Amino acid sequence: MAKQLDYHTIREIFTRFQKADPAPVGELDHVNVFTLVVAVALSAQSTDVGVNRATRELFKIADTPEKMLALGEEGVIEHIKTIGLFRNKAKNVIKLSRILVDEYNSEVPNSRAALISLPGVGRKTANVVLNMWWRAPAQAVDTHIFRVGNRSGICPGKDVDAVERAIEDNIPTDFQLHAHHWLILHGRYHCKARKPLCGTCIIRDLCEYKEKNL
Ligand code: SF4
Repeated sequence: MAKQLDYHTIREIFTRFQKADPAPVGELDHVNVFTLVVAVALSAQSTDVGVNRATRELFKIADTPEKMLALGEEGVIEHIKTIGLFRNKAKNVIKLSRILVDEYNSEVPNSRAALISLPGVGRKTANVVLNMWWRAPAQAVDTHIFRVGNRSGICPGKDVDAVERAIEDNIPTDFQLHAHHWLILHGRYHCKARKPLCGTCIIRDLCEYKEKNL
């Protein structure tokens, strides 16, 4: 784990991320906040590409909790059986749709606590939804952010909670909203797990990683 970078270095890193990609967006397809919740819940231990392939048809016929309930668990399974843990995920999609209809007037609540109370929605999923839909500066730490944060020193931590705190504590407020996507996309396309592309990395002179792939 690299040591925590100082304020000025982190500000320079995010200034570069911002210049390269002023308005980064997530790669999970959705048509409204309900389908965003479903897509993020389905993405646990699956790739965004795989989830998008599965939801392309699903969201055409079930883009509201009522339509999802009408489709039923077996109907959801038919669409998502190419992604991991599909049975459990289908069960949760139906359960959360039922709760949204019964308890939230078919709307998706926008507090972290209410989101986390839904089946299949954990803190990470809730933070992605709060960030992407309501533009709250919530940080969802996935495997890419965990790796980038610890290699570079932007937000090191021994577990995802510590990394989430390091982001909130150390990344300047004006970069907090997009920090989630800048870090994910940097990890997915540049700071790759096996062979990071350090030679073309725009922050290589600021990164603390000792084993750069140059
Ligand atoms: S220099 Fe290499 S290790 Fe550091 S952030 Fe860039 S790609 Fe990752």
